[in-house]
Amino acid sequence: METTDTKELSVMIVGAGLAGVLLALLLERQGISYSILERAQMVKPLGSVMSISANIMPVLEQLGLLEEIERISKPCETIGLYDIPMNKIADMGILDYKRMTGYQPLVFSRPQFYELLVSRIPSHKILRGKRVLSIEETEDSIMISCADKSQYQGDIVVGADGAYSGVRQSLYKRMEHEDILPQSDMESMKVGYVCTVGTTKPMDPEKYPFLQNKATTFSQVVGRDLLSVSKVDSKHYSWHIKDGKGEEAASRNSEWAPETVETSLKEFYALPSPLGGVMKDLIQATPRESISKVFLEEKMFETWHHGRVVLIACHKMLPAAGQGAVNAMEDAVILANCLYDMRATRLSDITEAFQDYREQRYPHAKAQFESSRLVAKLTCGQSMMESFIRQVVFKWLPDSFQRQSSLKTASYRPQISFLPLIENRGEGPLLPQKSSRRRQHEEVEH
Ligand SMILES: Cc1cc2nc3c(=O)[nH]c(=O)nc-3n(C[C@H](O)[C@H](O)[C@H](O)COP(=O)(O)OP(=O)(O)OC[C@H]3O[C@@H](n4cnc5c(N)ncnc54)[C@H](O)[C@@H]3O)c2cc1C
Repeated sequence: METTDTKELSVMIVGAGLAGVLLALLLERQGISYSILERAQMVKPLGSVMSISANIMPVLEQLGLLEEIERISKPCETIGLYDIPMNKIADMGILDYKRMTGYQPLVFSRPQFYELLVSRIPSHKILRGKRVLSIEETEDSIMISCADKSQYQGDIVVGADGAYSGVRQSLYKRMEHEDILPQSDMESMKVGYVCTVGTTKPMDPEKYPFLQNKATTFSQVVGRDLLSVSKVDSKHYSWHIKDGKGEEAASRNSEWAPETVETSLKEFYALPSPLGGVMKDLIQATPRESISKVFLEEKMFETWHHGRVVLIACHKMLPAAGQGAVNAMEDAVILANCLYDMRATRLSDITEAFQDYREQRYPHAKAQFESSRLVAKLTCGQSMMESFIRQVVFKWLPDSFQRQSSLKTASYRPQISFLPLIENRGEGPLLPQKSSRRRQHEEVEH
């Protein structure tokens, strides 16, 4: 095998979302030169509660971050489903999840998690106020032009710029022009829905005694508009209300963009709350700047790379299964592993690495995409058939069915191939991972 020197590689990551920042952290560990171009000047504390499953936890453990994340998290032990009159339909127990996978699902404030990841990369590597406008590729390099007229040159561009990725759009435009873009990638994303999310100010534990529990519960009202409430920590609740269908796409550019919350919040006041009473209390206890509007669409893109451009999160999943960010981060991990295994930095080596990345990730991302769609149908599908299936699945199918399906998802737990691997502590199934060619080679040499 040729000697690898990916340290010569220069990577430009577009977008400092969770996936872009995690990739940066992984390149930092490899000593690969990189910079992140982020259009926002500063990160606003948008977003709300977020959960992560066992799928990404070994990676966080390898990076030495898991303990810190546990400190800012609540373990999630149950997911309670309610119908509109607030009768409990099901308690989706995840109590033996830890025994089976070695990890407990965690729930935390998304901005806190984000800040933790960002704190692990040198701040000068994130260039803010850099809205990428165009990308030009030559035989031996690639050039990015930003709205402020600055230009950056490197070997590869990673589009980690979210669901409405400009890098993806620019790449697809070029491929369409060359007549090599598959038809399905020319079609726009399928409109899901728009929802409003918020995180309350600190709440009175006398009035909301659940806040004092050590663990958290996701309480979800299913069957009409999706509404969920969960505890973020011992002071705050987070809520999420689906509030309409098929809004205009004009202002969309990132699902967590600081869109104005035009929807009248008062429309949600009378909705029953899983905590008792109506949603008015929680909404009124939420500062306006902690309320964001997010766009939910779905699409599985087929083209993940071409030339010197590679895309992360080419799968826009409905968030019902809480797997979108986890999958975007898994993309970052596998891409970093493939860059680590590159033989040299010629275009042919880059293409080989990108192909390997897609081959490893596509089947898992596709399976999760389908499963997220199914969970969304089960929890908020409006048709008679969907309502019937909901009854069957939640009322009559044994718990073991739901348990099997959650363990199947959890069996994919990829790791960073160039750091010491974490031993499997779970008793449940674990899918094997492709090992690192370079690491094997280095071990033989030593
Ligand atoms: C209500 C809701 C709840 C969710 N809950 C969960 C959950 O519990 N667990 C989970 O795993 N996932 C969850 N998700 C999914 C998750 O939020 C997304 O999948 C995840 O944020 C995608 O991360 P990303 O880094 O790919 O993109 P983003 O977070 O969208 O980041 C993209 C970045 O790129 C920047 N950018 C965009 N265009 C440009 C440009 N032209 N030039 C420069 N920079 C640019 C943006 O400013 C942004 O910072 C949820 C989603 C929603 C909507």
